[in-house]
Amino acid sequence: MIYLDNNATTRVHPEVAKAMSPFLDDEYGNPSTGYDLGRRSNKAVADARNQVAEFLNSGAEEIVFTSCGTESDNTAIFSAITAMPEKRHIVTTSIEHSAVIAFAKAVLPGLDVTELSVNEEGIINLEDLKAAIRPDTALVTIMWANNETGVCQPVREASSITKESGTLFHTDAVNAAGKIPIDVSSSDIDFLSISGHKFHAPKGIGALYVRNGAPYKPLLIGGGQEDGKRAGTEAVAQIVALGKASELAAERLNDQGQEKLSGLRDALEQSLMDNIKGTVLNGSSRFRLPNTSHLSFDNVDAGDLLILANDKGLCIASGSACSTGTREPSRIMKAMGHTDERALSSIRLSVSSMNTEQEIEESSQIIISCVEKIRSLRSDGPVIFSS
Ligand code: PLP
Repeated sequence: MIYLDNNATTRVHPEVAKAMSPFLDDEYGNPSTGYDLGRRSNKAVADARNQVAEFLNSGAEEIVFTSCGTESDNTAIFSAITAMPEKRHIVTTSIEHSAVIAFAKAVLPGLDVTELSVNEEGIINLEDLKAAIRPDTALVTIMWANNETGVCQPVREASSITKESGTLFHTDAVNAAGKIPIDVSSSDIDFLSISGHKFHAPKGIGALYVRNGAPYKPLLIGGGQEDGKRAGTEAVAQIVALGKASELAAERLNDQGQEKLSGLRDALEQSLMDNIKGTVLNGSSRFRLPNTSHLSFDNVDAGDLLILANDKGLCIASGSACSTGTREPSRIMKAMGHTDERALSSIRLSVSSMNTEQEIEESSQIIISCVEKIRSLRSDGPVIFSS
């Protein structure tokens, strides 16, 4: 099997599995207890907090462990709205993950939500952001990198515009973390979400960066864990895993990790462009994650391509993992102004540092042969992409 769906989830790194395994075995103490078994768990959680803080260049006390990226996103929005009840407006974008947009719209009744549109490259306009912020805006939440296209937003600029107006800024960095460097200290970001399973930790662990001094209200209330910011007995093994995955990701990024990812991605993209007529890239080629390629193939149904590729042992995605199974065109592609045909012909290829050059060559051959087969079976003429 070849796995090229690393924006959906990633394989747990062997060193991460090794680091967490004692905490699934002998080291089962509750970190809030006073005897040695519990104290060791407590120390493991503190060490992991330092590792995550180093990865994001924050203070350790600014890291709150959560159960996933969704919880981190929900908490940031809930916190801003609850800490400032007089402010009932948030600004976001039309391409956010549903963990942001669905929560803001459905779970928080009476909230006024402004969605910034994106251009054909998938990028917001900062002038639109300036115009959208109002005196009653509690939060601006703009994702760092889109999970489908990999396109990155100008988050640093957006956070400083937001700060000038005295509003809080959150970014969903769930699909950016581990692929590009993140440095919260050099930005005006107040809240930042990450999720372990996107960078080689297991599922079920995330973190929210909360800038020192940012108004904060917890979503989960109970025992005073996480300094009162997130109740619930700490998932020690998963937290240790997130710490180790953060340490490894930081090392990879320091050691030409981005170049390795973009080398694999670009080789695959180029080969498909050269060998499949009517291949187009969706989203900015410049402002995107080094691991992601989002392509449309003229006259090819991406659903058929997925099935054929799967039969040959290749895992790829059309749309985001969360919307796979529906035959609706991706709302991200629609937000970028593309036609239904182009959206329904699009696939996402997302590599990780665990992929090899040989896998990339094999994947290319598989996709080329699947596209040829699909086209040979179609009786209608080519669909010409108009946007
Ligand atoms: N935000 C983005 C950009 C994502 O890609 C995802 C997962 O696909 C999430 C949030 C939700 O993260 P989790 O699966 O950890 O809840």
